[in-house]
Amino acid sequence: MEPSIGPAARPTQRTACVRCDGPLAAGDRYTCRPCVEAAYQACREITDRHVLASDILAVRRRTG
Ligand SMILES: [Zn+2]
Repeated sequence: MEPSIGPAARPTQRTACVRCDGPLAAGDRYTCRPCVEAAYQACREITDRHVLASDILAVRRRTG
């Protein structure tokens, strides 16, 4: 029988964005808000293929 998983067994909470290592706001699990918005914008502009990290960087460079 496996031990029950208590609150202490939660997965480690991320504190840095996986894309830019920026700080995560409350509720952000993997990427920071600017990266999420850049990803959404890239998705709207590029609809026929997967969004690449370079696409997001390009959008961030343009908007930031
Ligand atoms: Zn980020």
